[in-house]
Amino acid sequence: MTPDLKFIADTNVGRLAKWLRVLGYDTLMLDTHSDDNHLVRLAFEQGRVILTKDSHILRRRIVTEGHVHAVFIQDDDVDSQLRQVVSALGLDADIRAFSRCIECNHTLEPRARDQVEGQVPPYVFRTQQEFAQCPQCQRVYWQGTHWQRMRREVESLAKAK
Ligand SMILES: [Zn+2]
Repeated sequence: MTPDLKFIADTNVGRLAKWLRVLGYDTLMLDTHSDDNHLVRLAFEQGRVILTKDSHILRRRIVTEGHVHAVFIQDDDVDSQLRQVVSALGLDADIRAFSRCIECNHTLEPRARDQVEGQVPPYVFRTQQEFAQCPQCQRVYWQGTHWQRMRREVESLAKAK
């Protein structure tokens, strides 16, 4: 088991942040207005690993002295970015996947089928059995084609380790 790592993603790696949420990792994503100081301070206060494409952040003293851990993301391609983080930090690629809201980072809760009636498209309601919902943004998740595609990606990550 990997220790329970938490992340904070710079605005330049937003898609990577969503994928880490798919894997179930607590990942904060700042909006485009926040500055580097805010990012570094939150990382320090909350014990989050910084993910960034901005090399200036890695040269800050709080990072070079080891008070905050930061990973410099080199690649532009999100698959490569994810592989880099999974392998650099030894993440579990499949153990807690699909337990967290991709949009707002909140932990998902299981929902019975009749609880989501009217909140999902009728076809989905007819054909799916298992649902999960984000108690914060109310977004409903189910094992549709999008989810299956992500599942394959997660499986290939787990194998590549
Ligand atoms: Zn949510």
